[in-house]
Amino acid sequence: MSSANAILVEQIDAVLPQTQCGKCGHGGCLPYAAAIAEGEPINKCPPGGEATLHTLAQLLQRPLVALEQPAEMPQLAVIREDECIGCTKCIQACPVDAIVGAAKQMHGVLEAECTGCELCVAPCPVDCIDIVEHPQWQAAHNELAQQRYLNARAANGRVRHRARNARIEARKAALANKRMARFKQRLAPESTPAQRPQAQPAPFSQGSSQGSPSRNSALVARLQHKLSRMAADDPKRGELEQRLAEMQHSASAAPQQTRQLKMALAAAEQRRRLAERHVQHCYRQAGPDEITAAQHALEQARTTEQAARTALEQSTSLH
Ligand code: SF4
Ligand code: SF4
Ligand code: SF4
Repeated sequence: MSSANAILVEQIDAVLPQTQCGKCGHGGCLPYAAAIAEGEPINKCPPGGEATLHTLAQLLQRPLVALEQPAEMPQLAVIREDECIGCTKCIQACPVDAIVGAAKQMHGVLEAECTGCELCVAPCPVDCIDIVEHPQWQAAHNELAQQRYLNARAANGRVRHRARNARIEARKAALANKRMARFKQRLAPESTPAQRPQAQPAPFSQGSSQGSPSRNSALVARLQHKLSRMAADDPKRGELEQRLAEMQHSASAAPQQTRQLKMALAAAEQRRRLAERHVQHCYRQAGPDEITAAQHALEQARTTEQAARTALEQSTSLH
């Protein structure tokens, strides 16, 4: 993308309401902005309504056309708590991390963060999420107050959506790196211990596990066979014996590693639950700085929990 086009995309994105609802047919406001810059019609955003349509027409010097779908009032998702089964599907669907809750426990929507995108409604298996007019919009009694609310929602929605995307991408990249390291390790079975790729230091490293049980036992058998045919004074003997010892140690250490990773995940889940409760507490009783700090702590707790879950999943798939 040329820099002129990138600037145009940013200008268009600045006009869009940032609910990240996907009703324009794109995975969020920024992709729709990029599509508009490439010539897509400007009338596909229901949350933006007539106001966004007019601003886009003016910005891009395009003729006004009718909205493709009816305009929408600013909305809020509300979970009927006594019906929620705590499946976490809504959390996974929310593009701005506006839902808090733990597995098998009641979930709640953070009113100030919810953009009313409705993406949490369809995945809910018990249909316990209502969409209502946003109370902050209802409370805005003049145009200035309404515009202030829309600006705040857009700024918040943009930041939170980008932070969520960055977190998901970082998680995917970390996983891809680990897979690549394991793949390279398999391609170089005869390399010396010093040459073998080292596991990346991570909060929940899986130690020295080398592969599946069947693969491990095949390698162990191969090494034992090689050693049995090797002269006692062969200079390579020491290295092979060391590799054999490492593989046998890895196989015996696997169950203990899995136990430790399970404990680490349980602890991370507990920390994340506490962080979620603290966020809710801050929303009820604290000021903006404490809310921001609590949200930051919750982000970190979620990242740590995900790292613990990934490490455990990889460990159980390996052993
Ligand atoms: S608010 Fe929804 S419909 Fe409008 S641009 Fe953003 S994602 Fe698309
Ligand atoms: S809580 Fe639901 S409606 Fe609100 S932003 Fe998240 S997914 Fe959208
Ligand atoms: S999807 Fe529905 S049942 Fe599941 S946690 Fe969310 S609100 Fe509760």
